[in-house]
Amino acid sequence: MFKLAIVLALACFAHSLPTQESETRNVQIITRAQWGARAPNSRTTLATPVPEVIIHHSFSPGACWSQSACATAMRSMQNHHMNTNGWADIGYNFAVGSDGLVYEGRGWTTQGAHAPAVNSRSIGICLIGNWSTTSPPAVQLTATQNLINMGMSNGRIQRAHWLRGHRQVTATDCPGNTLFNTIRSWPNFRA
Ligand SMILES: [Zn+2]
Repeated sequence: MFKLAIVLALACFAHSLPTQESETRNVQIITRAQWGARAPNSRTTLATPVPEVIIHHSFSPGACWSQSACATAMRSMQNHHMNTNGWADIGYNFAVGSDGLVYEGRGWTTQGAHAPAVNSRSIGICLIGNWSTTSPPAVQLTATQNLINMGMSNGRIQRAHWLRGHRQVTATDCPGNTLFNTIRSWPNFRA
């Protein structure tokens, strides 16, 4: 009887969990193969769940509003990061387009190259576009939050993580004033 009560209590608790479990199903990830990624030159495993999420904007390339335009932006960023910066791969773990789709970068289990001080302890998410004076569309913001919820659900991001903008760990304007002001109101934002 006691065991049954516990099971019932747990079932009720699970049932009343916040929307993040259902939002996880709304994340549509465009794989590396789907956007035409090059193979990485090397990889370092990321220890998960990570305690931090770092938000970026691309600045350039600008916003992309279709899967084909975002795939082009991803290839452009990857080429720049590998050819010009000499990195092993595109720097971000994930990117999000104004089409509301998530684009796989290094993914959940490979250390990124996006914020040197915290690469080994964070997931770096880039909202493709320049968000200094304009805001990403709601679908892009929602997709980003859903991706973070997915990371918590699948054990890659700590539930008590810190969410920060790139400018808080590196001298940069990234992720742009407008986007930075938006993420200040998000759960887990750490001043
Ligand atoms: Zn950045």
